[in-house]
Amino acid sequence: MTRPVRARIDLQAVTHNLSVVRQAAPQSRVMAVIKANAYGHGVIPVTRALMKADAFAVASLEEAMQLREAGISHDIVLLEGVFDPEELELAITHQLQLVVHCEEQVSWLEGFKSGASVHLWLKVNTGMNRLGFSPQTALAMWQRLQRLSYVKTNCLRWLSHLACADEADNPLNSTQLVRFTEVTHFSETLQGTGAERSLANSAALLTRPDMHFEWVRPGIMLYGASPMASNHELEVELQPVMTLESRLIAVHQRAKGETIGYGQDWTCPQDMPVGVVAIGYGDGYPRHAPSGTPMLVNGKTVALAGRVSMDLICVDLRNQADAKAGDIVTLWGVGVPVEKVAQHVGTISYELLCGVTSRVPRFYQSN
Ligand SMILES: *Cc1c(COP(=O)(O)O)cnc(C)c1O
Repeated sequence: MTRPVRARIDLQAVTHNLSVVRQAAPQSRVMAVIKANAYGHGVIPVTRALMKADAFAVASLEEAMQLREAGISHDIVLLEGVFDPEELELAITHQLQLVVHCEEQVSWLEGFKSGASVHLWLKVNTGMNRLGFSPQTALAMWQRLQRLSYVKTNCLRWLSHLACADEADNPLNSTQLVRFTEVTHFSETLQGTGAERSLANSAALLTRPDMHFEWVRPGIMLYGASPMASNHELEVELQPVMTLESRLIAVHQRAKGETIGYGQDWTCPQDMPVGVVAIGYGDGYPRHAPSGTPMLVNGKTVALAGRVSMDLICVDLRNQADAKAGDIVTLWGVGVPVEKVAQHVGTISYELLCGVTSRVPRFYQSN
């Protein structure tokens, strides 16, 4: 038997989650965010399950080229644009759409000659304070980009990113909306017609219809995890896409007072069975997961016991006395939401999903 760790990827769930996006934002086009290897799920199969999306968004030219090489001819947006002027040529050859977030990028574009038509997304900083032009500067940049011969009027668009959309009642959300609306309205008066706009990530898509505009940019919800910081207010039925699983490779009876694993971090409170699972931080299971982090053995919840090692973890099997080597362990996915594991670990579902390492084979099912 080979090492039993695997990530099962349910491609039908991806397609289902896209239909949830469509229902939530029926008036908008969908830019599906598939950066970071589709949040760890495997970008090519996931993209194929998302063929009904209107565009894809990635973080780098390399990620975009991977899609082009797989024959995907959809619109693809580089969320940070190009990183140097050499990339510009390649990006345009491959018909990629570029975010423009800084003055250097504007200058590179001004130095570039192209016969092809290029789509640009001008990024405005409305309160995230990470990338993008201030609303004041953005208008001057808009005018410079408008003058480029290879940028047609309807090919220049607005984009901004929300800092706190996962907290539905954070007042910054509405502040960002007001700033975004103001700056984009001004460009409308400049050019006489409205430009297309994009503001909403998954969280805003599900909670703020007033932020949908012409394009929504869902990421995490396509993978079936809730985008909200606290999980309660969502009524939509997202289906988890990744189920990370392995198997028990040993079960030992331990005596009360024996300690488990590195650093003697966990002590058996009684005579009890302790299972050993073939997964560890070398696979992307988080090393900082504390004892008590839930997982399923044969469909029943059990708890991590002791420190996570590179290839192995131990579990408290007191409520699973019949469990034996070979039994399936689900670390997250169907039956154990990745958000719940993330909460125990003090991180977010995004990091857990992206962190599954290349050593873990992905098994794709489309039912
Ligand atoms: C990653 C990303 C998204 C997707 O965010 P989710 O919270 O995963 O929906 C949207 N827009 C930008 C600019 C991003 O970087």
